[in-house]
Amino acid sequence: MTDTLYDGIIEYKDYTGNRRESCDAVVIGSGPTGAVAAWQLVDRGLDVILLEAGPVRRPQDFTLDGAKTLAEVCYEGGLRAMRGKPMVPTMQARVLGGGSHINSAICVRTPQFCFDDWRERYGVDWVDRATLDPHYDRVEAFLGVGPTPADVLGRKNELFRDACNALGIHSEPMPRNVRGCCGCAECFTGCPTRAKQSMDISYIPDAVRKGMRVFTSAQVVAIDHDGRQASGVRAIIVDPSGRPSGHELRVDAKKVILAAGCLATPVLLQKSNVPDPHKQIGKGLQAHPGCALMGIFPDPVDPWFGATQGYQSLEYLRDGFKMETLWAPPAILAVRLPGFGKRLKEYYGKLRYSAFWDSFFALKHSQGRVRARPGRSFNPDVTYRVDRRDIPTIKTGLIKLAELFWAAGAEELLPGIYGVPEVVTRDQGLRPFEQADLKPEHIVLAATHLFSSTRMGPDPKTSVVDPYAELHHLKNCHIVDTGIMPRSPAVNPMLTGMALADRLAGQIAERM
Ligand SMILES: Cc1cc2nc3c(=O)[nH]c(=O)nc-3n(C[C@H](O)[C@H](O)[C@H](O)COP(=O)(O)OP(=O)(O)OC[C@H]3O[C@@H](n4cnc5c(N)ncnc54)[C@H](O)[C@@H]3O)c2cc1C
Ligand code: SF4
Repeated sequence: MTDTLYDGIIEYKDYTGNRRESCDAVVIGSGPTGAVAAWQLVDRGLDVILLEAGPVRRPQDFTLDGAKTLAEVCYEGGLRAMRGKPMVPTMQARVLGGGSHINSAICVRTPQFCFDDWRERYGVDWVDRATLDPHYDRVEAFLGVGPTPADVLGRKNELFRDACNALGIHSEPMPRNVRGCCGCAECFTGCPTRAKQSMDISYIPDAVRKGMRVFTSAQVVAIDHDGRQASGVRAIIVDPSGRPSGHELRVDAKKVILAAGCLATPVLLQKSNVPDPHKQIGKGLQAHPGCALMGIFPDPVDPWFGATQGYQSLEYLRDGFKMETLWAPPAILAVRLPGFGKRLKEYYGKLRYSAFWDSFFALKHSQGRVRARPGRSFNPDVTYRVDRRDIPTIKTGLIKLAELFWAAGAEELLPGIYGVPEVVTRDQGLRPFEQADLKPEHIVLAATHLFSSTRMGPDPKTSVVDPYAELHHLKNCHIVDTGIMPRSPAVNPMLTGMALADRLAGQIAERM
């Protein structure tokens, strides 16, 4: 892969002073939703500028060190957490391509029952499978989405498949946006073969070829508006680590399209004093907190081989959880291993024999909020409360995972849950999980799927954007990131975020 891929993209080294540009539409954020929206607008003949706070990251920048990747590529050095009981770690990538650059490429369509829920609870009656299917089709075709082939599954994924078969639970190879994946399991640290069709190697270069202008290292700090309509944005130029250079970029635009992500968009709106008479911006944040169990098998599993997340079961979506396989660099898995020093080292020694599978939860009652911090920081203040009424869902999801591990032949399980033994043996079966008196603060959760911080809806009193993703209280300012989803999409959110962005950007272009 040569560097011509990024020809025409402005990088940190290219800024020599302040700049002022103008265009039809400025898109803020180059993650899955921003990239698809920008591509769609350019494809419709509009003059588009895409702004991204992070740098371009090339294969020569990749490292297998997960902790280093986390620190270099994610906001707040990868140490971002949602405050609450328990604290729930979360992360957002600051790089060209956003989350698609570090994620596992999982692409799943949201089931219709979920859109029914969006309609019944939030009055969103303009999105369902029939309206989104053509957009799912188009995005999937562009990105080469398909099921993970058998020859790159590796044993961690095969064991999951075999356990589901043994228990009569539906499962399937993971649909992913990859072309020619070799199963090296390095999706988080950076796909070395560039098989993963992240936005930085797919939609963005294609849109640049069609005439889009891209400015990386440009962190938007204000939306220009007069209280009634938006007219552009102001950005500061930051180096790859986020330090301001002293230069500024101003963009005048007929349309401002926010795709900065579910946590960054509300902060930008709040810091820009955008009208919000009903205090809806940042309210009602939802997430998919997930919990992974580590199973230890008698024979080597070699979990570092095989598609990072190559198998899934959608069997329990209506019950509020999804089960899937998982792998992450050892430095990140350390949070799931008990002990320190010698004991931690002993568990690291067992990694070869282990598999990590997770359940993530679409919780009905748990919610949070995003607030801007005072002062100059654009890092969000995020609170999220796991509601006790959601504990039975979490408990069932963990029991089902444990059942799978025993069916697969695991000898021991490391649950990492307060009140459940540190190591659960096969002869103990499901008892320790079933008998546990679980409370939210007993469970080690992490959430990489976030949404609903700037909901779409018909009522300005209970939502932020209208059916065209335009702010109820600020004309010419639209949001297309996952924050607009009124509620959980039940499955991994990227594909639905992209399909929505594809549809909305087309509508925005038509109305210009
Ligand atoms: C480790 C990990 C694995 C995941 N795996 C999957 C998966 O396999 N499948 C799936 O469906 N989902 C997955 N997700 C979730 C998925 O990646 C996100 O839902 C998705 O990236 C959201 O897209 P987005 O465009 O809304 O925001 P983002 O991807 O977060 O993109 C927003 C972009 O905006 C930029 N930005 C923010 N603020 C500013 C500003 N002020 N100025 C300029 N630019 C700004 C950011 O730097 C970022 O690049 C994963 C997430 C993580 C963290
Ligand atoms: S498993 Fe390896 S080759 Fe496949 S998409 Fe992930 S990083 Fe790329």
